[in-house]
Order: sequence, then C-alpha cells, then structure tokens
Amino acid sequence: MKKVLVLEDEASIRGFIVINLRRGGYDVIEAESGEEALEKLRDHPDTQVALLDIMLPGIDGFEVCRRIRATNTRIGIIMLTARSQEMDKVTGLMTGADDYVTKPFSPAELTARVDALFRRAGGEETVPTGEISQPPFLLNTRNRTLEKNGERIKLTQVEYSIVKMFMENPGKALSREEILDTVWGRDYFAELKIVDVNIRRLRLKIEDDVTNPGYITTVWGFGYKWGL
Ligand code: CA
Repeated sequence: MKKVLVLEDEASIRGFIVINLRRGGYDVIEAESGEEALEKLRDHPDTQVALLDIMLPGIDGFEVCRRIRATNTRIGIIMLTARSQEMDKVTGLMTGADDYVTKPFSPAELTARVDALFRRAGGEETVPTGEISQPPFLLNTRNRTLEKNGERIKLTQVEYSIVKMFMENPGKALSREEILDTVWGRDYFAELKIVDVNIRRLRLKIEDDVTNPGYITTVWGFGYKWGL
C-alpha cells in the first residue's frame, strides 16, 4: 500500500488534501500537529511520503522535517508553503525536504508531486546492481549509499539520485533542466530552483570546502558538472 502522511493543522485544507490523495490510491495518515505527525510516523514506519505544513501550533514544519530526517533518509518529504513564504521554501529544502508545493495548489499538481516522490522513495525504478568508484567516492547502487574516504554520507533519495547522475556522467556539463527531468521526472511541475537548493545541500555534505566546490562545480548560466 502506498502510504502518505499529511500534516496540516487547518482541517479544511487537510480534508481537501486527504480526499484527493485517497482518490489517487493512497493510504493517508492524518496529523494536526508536528508532535502527532512524529508519533504517527513511529507507528507507521512504512510511510513513504510526508506532506508537512510549515505554520503549526507547537513545533513547526521545519522542525518536524529535521526530526524525521535525523532518523529517516528514505522517506520523501514535501513542504506545504504559502505563496508569500519564498524564503521558507529554501529553508525547508535545507532542513531536508525534497520538494515544496505552494498553496493554493490544484489536486492534479499535488498528486503529481506525491506520485513522483513516491516512485523515488518507493524505489520503483529498476535497480542496477553494483558500484561506481570515483575516489574519494564510492557509490553503491544496490544499497543506494555513498561513501567518501570509506565513510558513509547520509543522503536523501533525491540527493542520492543527483550524485548518481553526476557519477554516471563525470566531467559532463549537465543542464539544470536535464537534472530536473532525470531526478524529479519529466512530467514534474517543479521550478529549476529546486535543483540549485538540493545541490547546495548536497555540497554541504560532500565537498571538502563548500565555498570552493571541487566535486560539484557550477557551469555558469547552464548547470553543474561533476569534477573540475
Ligand atoms: Ca498551518
């Protein structure tokens, strides 16, 4: 069963989301507060995607995201943001979210976003076995893990997919559109900024010197490249 958690304190919005996801074939778990969401995720460890509202009584959506990510890198996380919260989108992605949806959103858009993350988190893609070794990095495509100098680096599924794309294309300039299509899916309604924010977060995890990246380099006006 495809299981999704919806954290939203406003009952009318939550109801709208829940109805549409159930129509889309999802088993939906509802939470009104961050504390309740964390508790329900503990009871339902097989939840593959979480939708997190930001403004909540008690702990906010960012804190919920941070706490989920502390123990769970596999789950897909989408932040629900208001149109005015431009900065919040970035903050949310930096705390470990994979994506954000801006309110108000259409049922089709929401379902498409959840479907795309579900495919990623659920690992429905064909899993080739083996390793890609590019010292100091070792990517294990069977376990979907990355090591740097023999130390495991904790990655979200989206971060893993980005690194995999880079390591499969060493030295090749990849456009932001190409990365978005490959990692998030071709039918995805996302903005290109999501690529930049995920890469910024990835650099914090893998670069020796974030201010002078040597692994993921910027190709100005185009995109990114693996290596100098
Ligand atoms: Ca709210």
